[in-house]
Amino acid sequence: MSNPAPLLALAEPEGTYRAVDRWVEVLVDCSGAQGLYTYRLPIDLSVQTGDILSVPFGPQQVGAIAIRLLTTPPDLDPGQIREVESIVSPGFFPPAYWELLDRVAHYYHTSLMQVVKVALPPGLLMRSQRRIRRVEGAEAGILRGTAQQILDVLKDSKTGDYSWVHIQRQVSGASRGLQELLKQGLVESYLLPPIAVRPKLRQSVTLVAEDICELTQRQSEILDLLKRQGGEAWLNEFLQQCHVSSSVLKTLERKGYLAIQPREVLRTERGVLTDEDRSRSLTSDQVSVLEQIQQCQEFTEILLHGVTGSGKTEVYLQAIAPILERGESALVLVPEIGLTPQLTDRFRARFGDRVCVYHSALSEGERYDTWRQMLTGKPQVAIGTRSAIFAPLPKLSLIILDEEHDSSFKQDQPAPCYHARTVAQWRAQLENCPLILGSATPSLESWVRAKQSQAETPNSRYLSLPKRVYDRPMPAIEVVDMRQELRERNGSIFSRSLQTALNELQETRQQGLLFIHRRGHSTFVSCRSCGYVMDCPNCDVSLSYHHVHAEARPLLRCHYCNHVASQPSACPSCGSSYFKNFGSGTQKVAQELGRQFPALRTIRFDSDTTRNKGAHRALLTKFAQREADLLVGTQMLTKGIDLPQVTLVGIIAADGLLNLQDFRASERAFQTLLQVAGRAGRGDEPGRVILQTYSPEHPVIEAVQRQEYEPFVTSELQQRSALNYPPYGKLALLRFSAMNPAVVQKAAERVAQTLSQSDDYELLGPAPATVLRVAGRYRWRILLKFPQSVVPVMPDLEELRSLCGSNVSLTIDIDPLNLI
Ligand code: ADP
Ligand code: ZN
Ligand code: ZN
Repeated sequence: MSNPAPLLALAEPEGTYRAVDRWVEVLVDCSGAQGLYTYRLPIDLSVQTGDILSVPFGPQQVGAIAIRLLTTPPDLDPGQIREVESIVSPGFFPPAYWELLDRVAHYYHTSLMQVVKVALPPGLLMRSQRRIRRVEGAEAGILRGTAQQILDVLKDSKTGDYSWVHIQRQVSGASRGLQELLKQGLVESYLLPPIAVRPKLRQSVTLVAEDICELTQRQSEILDLLKRQGGEAWLNEFLQQCHVSSSVLKTLERKGYLAIQPREVLRTERGVLTDEDRSRSLTSDQVSVLEQIQQCQEFTEILLHGVTGSGKTEVYLQAIAPILERGESALVLVPEIGLTPQLTDRFRARFGDRVCVYHSALSEGERYDTWRQMLTGKPQVAIGTRSAIFAPLPKLSLIILDEEHDSSFKQDQPAPCYHARTVAQWRAQLENCPLILGSATPSLESWVRAKQSQAETPNSRYLSLPKRVYDRPMPAIEVVDMRQELRERNGSIFSRSLQTALNELQETRQQGLLFIHRRGHSTFVSCRSCGYVMDCPNCDVSLSYHHVHAEARPLLRCHYCNHVASQPSACPSCGSSYFKNFGSGTQKVAQELGRQFPALRTIRFDSDTTRNKGAHRALLTKFAQREADLLVGTQMLTKGIDLPQVTLVGIIAADGLLNLQDFRASERAFQTLLQVAGRAGRGDEPGRVILQTYSPEHPVIEAVQRQEYEPFVTSELQQRSALNYPPYGKLALLRFSAMNPAVVQKAAERVAQTLSQSDDYELLGPAPATVLRVAGRYRWRILLKFPQSVVPVMPDLEELRSLCGSNVSLTIDIDPLNLI
């Protein structure tokens, strides 16, 4: 198919010579195709990165995306390089887009293909089919044989449309003919998406006649309802709304008032109809923050530090409004989907259908349609989770990361292990637009960047909203010492103070949240009598409980240095036999509530009860409508629930958070506790928080009780700096896994041996992962810690892999958040 032309040189008017042989690297849409392929560009084809091309690949023609243009010949035998056939669809992606993906691949040490898989919705190109159709009304002049033959073939098709494969079978040497037809505008070529993602059709109802006569009252009510919705609705939704059967609407259709017909649905997530919402007049703090945001036209990283309930969301909304007016777009990232229903509702109420939602819980079809819709360049606000940082919005003018401290912005697996905040920084730079990082409890990384001197980080700003709107007070936090409860013979998981508060809840008709920390498979071990926790002698982290298998004796292990201790049968500090791994899940707490407070209506809100699509929204709506008194849940409760009638927040056992085997445990505990506390008292009634713990003297608990961010951060940063942890030092985590425990351990040890020859970093491990075996694979870890004084150079991953053997998988996580 390719027809290797000699390198040509054309004389240009000025008499200079220019080599016209150019090349393009493309991503090929074909299963089994790995990496980038190089093609030659025909002289008359002007290709831009992001164009969708048609290229020969093996015996077939396939779709491809132009990734990089090359002006110097690639290091390949010229005879081997085939030629791009044509441009199927130009300008599919914004120009800076590929640069962003390239940067992600480079920084996180993965292939571009893997980044593309995260960024693009599945099936965007895959299995797509190239088709050719006649352009109606175009007059053919004199054509060469093959071109005429193609036209004749197309005449046989009722729609004037055939797959390219079919045409090639009918006409030998069809390519040349096609080129000619394309050039003369007689046919067009397009890519048909695969079946799974074809546009979806759905029955709709449309109002066609307005003046209503000779109708029953019920019939005119129905038409009236439709009119109030803008004259259009989906059939099944509308039927539900008016509680009628479809025959009633069919009658109206026969009378000529309505049309019932299939319409293409863009499968983008639509919210429930919400009342329109207008901008509120801002508090003076909000005004000042908004003004400063609006002064930033170019790339600026803004840390918006506002206490819970200070009105950050209102600031986002008012920062976005003028952008949409200008015909540009904004991107808003949120940590988890549990948080989005309320937030998206607020955005929809303000901006209507200019809001679109994008996250990985959407179906393939929905993701595909949302993508196509974004590429139209219509001004819009895209709201999504982590992967939405790759949303292909043209004319992007503002990026917001709400709750920027949240660790779900980081992808642990699979590669690329990217952090959406880091990618957002690059994207904002490439688009030259501001980035707002919003939080009541900023990550130490963002805090340090924002607080550095202007000279060090000239493009960053620190803005703060130190008070709640209308001077509403912050909730009072009462810390209850659970050891004292036990001493005074209260063995319940609810302290006496919390019991009283729960009883009062019903009398006052207010609502409460009960927060339980969800632990992973591993837990720390502590004494219920004195609060003593087993720590690693070398690492300043708590040891975690390891259960290898049922008969084995439980071990305590450090996941940084692999120090091992056996579990003592009694507390080493006070001798109490209440020395166990800690645990009480939501289910157990819900049962206890049922036993002790039978009249309290509770809703469980955790990963078990919110598994189904839409369950978050359904449960939150039920709670918001006061169908329950208490919402009992895990981490999800900390994220953005904004309900004015919530006055009580109970924290069952803060300890689960304090003693994780991680140098970030304190930071996370502080953030989580302050966030969950911040759900109380957001309305007119002041809020109250009861925090139960076995270690009230822990610095984190003390800091939470005072609700002071800065002193806590200052002391935390001193420790980080002393131990060279982020945000000062830099970490890279090597993850090993294999089916055979001995093989993976050996591999990790060999790699560690090689790595130990460098002085560029500190090597920690190898150590087994907290959960050693997952899905039949045994996992080991090596942590590299680079000092702040050096520019980190990562070891060559391929070289390390060659030490491991083919049965061991080795991946790297740059700036890991999850070390276990
Ligand atoms: P944050 O995002 O900082 O936690 P929100 O933006 O959710 O705070 O605001 C907290 C509550 O205060 C919300 O119910 C919001 O509607 C309300 N609110 C925010 N700004 C204003 C304002 N300027 N006037 C009136 N109410 C406001
Ligand atoms: Zn250790
Ligand atoms: Zn003890």
